[in-house]
This record gives sequence, structure tokens and C-alpha cells, in this order.
Amino acid sequence: MSGEIISHDQKFLHLTIPTVKLERLCTGMLWTEGPVYFPLGDYLLWSDIPNNRIMQWMDGVGSRIYREDSNNSNGNTRDHQGRLITCEHRSRRVTRTEHDGSITVLADSYDGKRLNSPNDVVMKSDGTIWFTDPPYGILSDFEGKKSPQEQKACNVFRLDLESGSLDVVIDDFDKPNGLAFSPDESVLYVSDTGISHTENGPRHIRALDVADGKTLSNSRVFAEIENGAPDGFRLDVEGNIWTSTGGGVQCFSPEGKLLGEIVIDEMVANVTFGGPKNNRLFITATTSLYSIFLGTNGLV
Ligand code: MG
Repeated sequence: MSGEIISHDQKFLHLTIPTVKLERLCTGMLWTEGPVYFPLGDYLLWSDIPNNRIMQWMDGVGSRIYREDSNNSNGNTRDHQGRLITCEHRSRRVTRTEHDGSITVLADSYDGKRLNSPNDVVMKSDGTIWFTDPPYGILSDFEGKKSPQEQKACNVFRLDLESGSLDVVIDDFDKPNGLAFSPDESVLYVSDTGISHTENGPRHIRALDVADGKTLSNSRVFAEIENGAPDGFRLDVEGNIWTSTGGGVQCFSPEGKLLGEIVIDEMVANVTFGGPKNNRLFITATTSLYSIFLGTNGLV
């Protein structure tokens, strides 16, 4: 039942709050993704990919369409200056929305060929932008525009805005999707959702060690998801991973132990922390946006 909290470990009782209920904040969308919270305005943005729009929700005010014709945007994050960074499916690029509302293209090609369809994005403390590039936006017209794949692989990229260099940091995933760093950025977590189009394909989160701020090694499976796939996820300050699944949200310890879950009757695509205390988990789940207050805080 939606809102049920299932604990698999004592620790989860401290990460959740027994008196708190799951709230549905907004519904009526087609496939919600890419939640990102903006502390300055105390609001949340997220993508409604097939409806080609970015939505906005503000506590006490409600929701509205923030951007029409979003190029079938998917993952979002904010940079250190509080600007919106967006993965766009149809235009196959990563953009930044400036404070004056204009849009700057940060990346749209690699090796002279168009990107597949950037999916999810995260900014590291050094200002570099890391994003995944599976083909979900070019496989059909539903989430973008059906088009040939030009890249040889579905890569994970690192974009250094200072030098302008765009480098492949992972090239051996089936369909890389969500990504996030551990609190000390010594580990990068990246999900592979290949199960979506390949029978018995990957449905796991992998962990990779990060050296020199950018060199990855020791790629290993961190957690398998049995129901659905780990599309997107975020970490709390203790390094626990809160990931989307087909049946809600699951929480794993830094050691990969399943601590507990929040049941939701819609397939979850992604989550993010927000609210003035950064202790509210916002959840994009198919047609709806949900939230729940937690006993922990998200990584800033
Ligand atoms: Mg995704």
C-alpha cells in the first residue's frame, strides 16, 4: 500500500519518522523525472518528459508549468551558483539556465557525433559536471525523438567547464542512468537500467572508486534491485543511498545492505532531498510527485 514504510534494519527506524505520512503533492503527469530543489526560492523543479515540460512546486503555493517545450528534459541538478543544469532528450544535450533565463549549451556532441540523450546529471565539488548518456530519448518518440544512435556506446561523461574538455569516464555499461557521489566523493555510484530493453539485463547500482578527482577504478555491483530498476537516486549525509525502484523507494547502507523501503503504488523514477532543512525526500513516480519527511538530511 502506498505510504507503507518497511524496515529491514534497526537503522532505518532512525532514518524515518514514525508519525510522518507520504504526501502526494501533484499528479496528472505522464512520466516524471529529474527532481531538483532550489533553496533560494524554496521550490522544486522536475521534468514531465513525455509532456515536454518542466514543472515547479512550492510549499503552500502548489504547482505550475515552469517551462513549456523543454526539449523533453530529463535529469536536472543545480550548480554551485544556483543555476539549473538540465539533460535534454530531444535536443540531445546538457544545458545551463542562466540567472537571466537564457540557456547555454554545455555539451551536445562527443568525437564529432551527437550525444545519445543525456539522462541524469550531477555536479562534483570541483565544479565538473558528470552525466549519463543512454538512448532512452532516441529509441521512440515518447520521451524524445526516434533517431539513430551516433555514439559507439552509452557513456558516462565528465565535463570540465574550465578547460572545456568532455571525457568518457565509463564506456562499458548497457544503459547508465542515475549517478551520485559518496559524501567524500571517493566513490561514484552509477546505475545500469539495461533490464528495460534487454531480458535479464542489468538492474543494479555499481560503485566505482574515484582517484585524483576523476579516474575511476574497481567497478563493482553495489546493489541489485529486484522490482523494476534503479533509475535515479540520491545520498543522505551518512552516505545511505535512496534509490527509485518499481515499487517505491529503497534505502541501502554504504555497505550495500538494504535498510528499508517506502512503498509507492507507482513506478518511481527518481528522488531528491529538499526543503529548508534538506530533510524532505521528493519522489517523482510516473504520474505524480510525492514527498516524505525523513530523520536524516540530504547531501547538499
Ligand atoms: Mg534517469
